[in-house]
Amino acid sequence: MSRIVVLGGAESGVGAAVLAKVKGFDVFLSDKGTIKAEYAEELDKWGIPYEQGTHSEELILSADEVIKSPGIPSNVPMVRKIEEKGIHIISEIEFAGRYDSAKKICITGSNGKTTTTSLIYYLLQQAGLNVGLGGNIGKSYAYQVATEHFDYYVLEISSFQLDNCYDFRPDIAIITNITPDHLDRYDHDMENYVRAKFRITRNLRPEDCFIFDSDDEITINHLDKIVTRAKKLPFTQKGEVEQGAFLRDNKIVVRYEKDECDIYLEELALGGKHNIYNSMAAAIAAKASGIDNEVIRGALRSFKSIEHRLEPVMSVGGVMYINDSKATNVDAAWYALECQKKPVVWIVGGTDKGNDYAPLFDLVREKVKGIVCLGVDNAKIHKAFEPIVGEDNMVDTRSADEAVKAAAAMAQDGDVVLLSPCCASFDLFTCYEDRGEKFKEAVRNL
Ligand code: ADP
Repeated sequence: MSRIVVLGGAESGVGAAVLAKVKGFDVFLSDKGTIKAEYAEELDKWGIPYEQGTHSEELILSADEVIKSPGIPSNVPMVRKIEEKGIHIISEIEFAGRYDSAKKICITGSNGKTTTTSLIYYLLQQAGLNVGLGGNIGKSYAYQVATEHFDYYVLEISSFQLDNCYDFRPDIAIITNITPDHLDRYDHDMENYVRAKFRITRNLRPEDCFIFDSDDEITINHLDKIVTRAKKLPFTQKGEVEQGAFLRDNKIVVRYEKDECDIYLEELALGGKHNIYNSMAAAIAAKASGIDNEVIRGALRSFKSIEHRLEPVMSVGGVMYINDSKATNVDAAWYALECQKKPVVWIVGGTDKGNDYAPLFDLVREKVKGIVCLGVDNAKIHKAFEPIVGEDNMVDTRSADEAVKAAAAMAQDGDVVLLSPCCASFDLFTCYEDRGEKFKEAVRNL
């Protein structure tokens, strides 16, 4: 019996271990940190041996194959040792793909993955297909392959999950866009990051589809450098395309093979220029999956926005509060500001990931009347935006409660208070969800 060792005991690692167990491998899981109680219970339930707080070399280096969780960087000593010993390292996605014959629609990119993935899942559900949702969202893909049977999967896949994929093949691959993010994990080399994202296309066959943003220069430049046999289906808001999606007369037009489908922009459930892109990508994927035009239109109209992504919270005293806590980089915040039609009091800040704020200057000049900094160190935000909004219109806060009160004091009837922080949340919160929850709670308490 061959031996599989799983490194990392969270959602993806535990899912991979369960699948390995179900497939009859001798499986062992090792996590250098602590394993959360719910995951330890799961491992116990399936009778999977594991260790935490340490990596025991003798138990790990005896593996025939190692499944590495995406959170573990490839330069940590244990991973190096595994490589030196010549043991093959794969990702949970690669492993699960071996045991799954469902049609797979896989989404990667810098921004818009969760939105696009959720939209496509909803579209396929509305079409009555037997479809699972996984990857970075909800239950891991491997766990579902072990315990469910679906005809389709819609999978959100981060570049870290693609890093150790080799033979995994989506039927439809989507790159939403590529902007600098997580460069710390790619030796600060943009080319490495772009290449990691493009791994999603490497096994595509001529009958498979590759959906991408042809307005995104980074994507287009890289596409010139690779060979793919897949059907190329770009989406764009500039000009027309023969196959893919584009804008005409205030409508999205989707062209796939000989068929066409159009949807009025004003009918889309999700607002903002970025969501036009996301809706285009989703509509192409749906069309390529053979879904009827009426179902596509209906689903794009009735989709409900997802938590922490431009999520309207409530209106208090004529001021609308919007939770975009998931905007953890400059590009995401750019789109959030871009789609605001009313004067904005902007709540921004957190753990800076090496941000360059310059791309936001014009939008801030045009739309932002006041800035509430929500972070431990706000110096960079002051330096960037004080010359635009003025020192008197900027305040520093250190909790969601304080930030919401400060924003409420600045805002007037008809304004919007937008939490779109551009930064990670770890200085003051446990994660972006925690930041969003606390923001919403503070708004409800106003
Ligand atoms: P991801 O899963 O890639 O992080 P999300 O769908 O969760 O993406 O959205 C993350 C943030 O990026 C949100 O704040 C959202 O408003 C913004 N966003 C969504 N789609 C796009 C897009 N296509 N381009 C740029 N920003 C986007």
